[in-house]
Amino acid sequence: MPTDDLARFCCQNPDCVAYGRRDRGNILVIDHFGKARHRLLYCRDCKARFSEFKGTPFFNSKLPHDKVLAVLQHLADGCGVRQTARLVGVNKDTVTRLALLAGRHAEDTHDEVVAFSPRDPRGPIR
Ligand SMILES: [Zn+2]
Repeated sequence: MPTDDLARFCCQNPDCVAYGRRDRGNILVIDHFGKARHRLLYCRDCKARFSEFKGTPFFNSKLPHDKVLAVLQHLADGCGVRQTARLVGVNKDTVTRLALLAGRHAEDTHDEVVAFSPRDPRGPIR
């Protein structure tokens, strides 16, 4: 990922004043880790450190990211759990686990995006 995408990230510490708030300039890259050199992010407000993938289905996944993505793409395309497991070459329990993680992430994203949408886009409150 390019380094100029930090505005997309927010602090993952629920006790932080900047928790869940993006583009505040409080997130820095302080290190890289693992074989894939994932970024370790740092919040200037609360000093918390966390993986750039915390809160996503990629976090702590032992599968390569392209396999995780392939599982989620098959599910999104309507394949069942067993079919996805066969086609991608992973265990069906892995498919189920990733589906639950992706569902939670999608729900959080939905709540965040919908919270800022006006109830009536043509109404007086925008
Ligand atoms: Zn923080």
